[in-house]
Amino acid sequence: MLTIRNFIDGQLVEPAGRAYFDDIDPATGEVCAQVPDSDHRDVDAAVDSAKRAFGAWSATPAAERSRILLRIADLIERDLDELARSECIDTGKPLSVARSVDIPRAVNNFRFFATAILHTKSETHQTDTEALNVTLRQPRGVAGLISPWNLPLYLFTWKVAPAIATGNTAVGKPSELTPTTAHRLAALCQEAGLPAGVLNIVHGLGAKAGAAIVSHGDVPTISFTGGTETGSQIARTAAPMFKRLALECGGKNPTIVFADADLDDALPVSVQSAFANQGQVCLCGSRIFVERSVFDQFVDRFVERSSALRVGDPMEQGTDLGALISKEHLAKVESYVALAQDEGGTIRCGGARPAAFNERCRGGFFLQPTVITGLNAQCRTNREEIFGPVVTIMPFDDEEQVIGFANATQYGLSASLWTSNLDRAHRVAGQIQSGTVWVNCWLLRDLRVPFGGMKHSGLGREGGDEALRFFTEPKNVCIKLRNERT
Ligand code: NAD
Repeated sequence: MLTIRNFIDGQLVEPAGRAYFDDIDPATGEVCAQVPDSDHRDVDAAVDSAKRAFGAWSATPAAERSRILLRIADLIERDLDELARSECIDTGKPLSVARSVDIPRAVNNFRFFATAILHTKSETHQTDTEALNVTLRQPRGVAGLISPWNLPLYLFTWKVAPAIATGNTAVGKPSELTPTTAHRLAALCQEAGLPAGVLNIVHGLGAKAGAAIVSHGDVPTISFTGGTETGSQIARTAAPMFKRLALECGGKNPTIVFADADLDDALPVSVQSAFANQGQVCLCGSRIFVERSVFDQFVDRFVERSSALRVGDPMEQGTDLGALISKEHLAKVESYVALAQDEGGTIRCGGARPAAFNERCRGGFFLQPTVITGLNAQCRTNREEIFGPVVTIMPFDDEEQVIGFANATQYGLSASLWTSNLDRAHRVAGQIQSGTVWVNCWLLRDLRVPFGGMKHSGLGREGGDEALRFFTEPKNVCIKLRNERT
């Protein structure tokens, strides 16, 4: 069985306390690896190493940093099959998804930021004939990078790549539920020649290892992706320490379908948006609002498509939905299915665990794709993040009403709206409270655009220039110009 190690000062090492806990394969319920139960001693060692590495790494020419990051990207691509398999075992997601989405995106994250640092511009401002201002962008020191389990290597590298590309060193903590691909990344960083201490990875529990990173006095930058409650807790620790914070938190994203939309386009994408990764993507469209004149038709077709999705062994070809991340998470999602019924909802399909489909997955954490109608927009089922294969569909009568429905949660991460009327698309997009609005599409990503949420979905933005700015400190140097002739 695989024993995960911390990655500190360029070495794969045991945790100081020599304590480990189990990593469970959600598709089988069996233990698949041992995870270091790290504590503040491991975090202290990782931060010390990152501090020592900072001077040389921040002074390394951008072209050299870029070359090393590109090498890491090539190595991830070389090992795509093995990494995808690890991601599948850790998360329960279909192997096909890990192969086509998760691991390729990790490659792209490194390539994107490795090349972005070669093309950034510095700002200068001339104050008439009196002075010239040159704004330097300097790395900030040791960055603390904390990531969730739903897209493990994808989201971990989305932080690691910009942090180290810009000359910071880092201490990362992947989710304790999905540590394996980060462990393999450590070995690839060694192979790529990343200097010791530039990236350190400490595995363990959020409340112990994660909290030790957040409260460490020598980690001035914290980038976190995870739940809203955890984000709020991290902010309570970090704010009085004047740390720079990026929080990418939960979502409860609306999909809005107007009657003039092309339903042949809207239906398959809405189904995908509801159930991709078992509904465990922060951007999943979990509340669907459909204009009343096409509501019945939409629901019938949506239910038909959802019922046809295959819940199965994540390792098998043709599986659309794999397992949910854990037994506890499955129980939480099921509690929302029960709540929806208490709130007057009707289960149109799913709502239960699937019948056993093979011996290997008998102990796995599976749930059928579940479609619920008959709820109002303000009920708890429609306000709280479920983060599973559960979607609600409600009718609406006009633009104003659906904008009110869409904005009726504390979250504001993304929205998807479907219409053939361009004026309406602009009008509605302008009024939706979310960091991203997709029109006639979903999850069409360009790594250059600002990515993040409004309201309780987060603080700050990742992606493109936003990430380069986040991980650097602007320092303005004002140079007085002497105008006398000599
Ligand atoms: P989580 O908040 O439980 O954990 C996220 C990470 O934070 C893990 O590494 C965990 O160990 C760590 N952590 C937990 N408590 C901590 C603490 N007190 N101090 C420091 N670190 C701590 O979230 P999760 O269950 O892993 O992920 C699911 C959530 O992530 C969902 O709410 C989802 O919407 C959100 N998410 C958001 C985005 C986004 O970009 N906005 C992307 C993916 C997932």
